[in-house]
Amino acid sequence: MNIHEYQASELFAKYGLPVNAGRVAYNPEEAAAHARAFGGTVVLKAQVHSGGRGKAGGVKLAKSPEEAAEKTGQILGLDIRGHIVRKVLVAPAADIAKEYYLGVILDREARGITLMGSAEGGVDIEEVAATAPEQIIRVTADRTLGLQDYQARELAFGMGIPADQVNGFVAIAKGLYAAFVGEDASLAEINPLIRTGDGKWQALDAKVVLDDSALGRHPGSEALRDLDEENATELAAKAAGMAFVKLDGEIGCMVNGAGLSMATMDAIKFAGGAPANFLDVGGGATSAQVVAGLKLILDDPEVKAILFNIFGGIARCDVIAQGIVDGLTQIEVKVPLVVRLLGTNQEEGRRILRDSGYNLITADTMSEAAQKAVAAARGSL
Ligand code: GDP
Ligand code: MN
Repeated sequence: MNIHEYQASELFAKYGLPVNAGRVAYNPEEAAAHARAFGGTVVLKAQVHSGGRGKAGGVKLAKSPEEAAEKTGQILGLDIRGHIVRKVLVAPAADIAKEYYLGVILDREARGITLMGSAEGGVDIEEVAATAPEQIIRVTADRTLGLQDYQARELAFGMGIPADQVNGFVAIAKGLYAAFVGEDASLAEINPLIRTGDGKWQALDAKVVLDDSALGRHPGSEALRDLDEENATELAAKAAGMAFVKLDGEIGCMVNGAGLSMATMDAIKFAGGAPANFLDVGGGATSAQVVAGLKLILDDPEVKAILFNIFGGIARCDVIAQGIVDGLTQIEVKVPLVVRLLGTNQEEGRRILRDSGYNLITADTMSEAAQKAVAAARGSL
């Protein structure tokens, strides 16, 4: 689950990180009031679940309450990488002497929690990773003992932090690591982490992604969810008891079981296509769920073909087949459908599909199904 910068800052503050305390404004008048309360120059920052706000005009300085109101008016409503700005964080402007990058990630390759730091702060870290990977220093925390001081120092030295500033940096690295672990995050990032003109460390931006699977351990986290920022289709799937993840390919997938879904997506890639979504209708899928799933997939205008890959273990092929047929009677489907049914009651399932009168493409194996779906999406089947 993604949360906003102002919420991530509040989490960071709980772990002793020096954040820039700001206030959220929903309109220019509120922004002016906050600016008046802070006095002096303030920074106005679009609160959206996206980076790159600076470049998109979503971060501006204002020297007076009037200017704060005017610039907030410019920021509200902006479209930043597909996210519409509905609120703005108003905070005292910082005096930046140097910008660094500091992030904590769940590092599958290293099989641990890795801290990444760079003296190339403030900019897109993905860009640094692509153009100057040697500028990113990594240390993986000790799996048993957690992040050790010497590891944080190693990071600091690699980032070229002057010796007299290293202890302060170590405290921040340890605080960020503690926040990551304590909040069950999958990402915690400060970009930029700055040195101020008067020689202090400050976290000038805050990004946290919380692990959805751990939300149950944090009763307060659900309140941080911003429904405006979430994919409507994913929310509808959740309400229908299905796991749905929107992807950017052209082949809609309906599969039972998470493992089979992953394998199906691989098979589509292997056949030269790209999945439009991940959709696990679950082990005991009902025909109503199949109908709901079909609607979710067809919500996406990019979908050019749909692949059903069903293994009847607990689920029965005839039930799924009936769901597909029910779906087709309820929803007008204009894209080709490829169906592979295997397992319990497969003969009955295939008979239902055959007798339905709908034009369905069938396949016996997963790779055949994937190839047919890719061909069908290209209109060459
Ligand atoms: P992002 O572009 O979405 O990552 O937004 P950030 O919060 O990181 O802001 C982008 C950039 O705006 C930073 O790297 C800074 O250079 C600048 N910036 C942000 N806050 C302040 C501030 O208080 N004072 C000044 N002078 N610049 C700021
Ligand atoms: Mn940033």
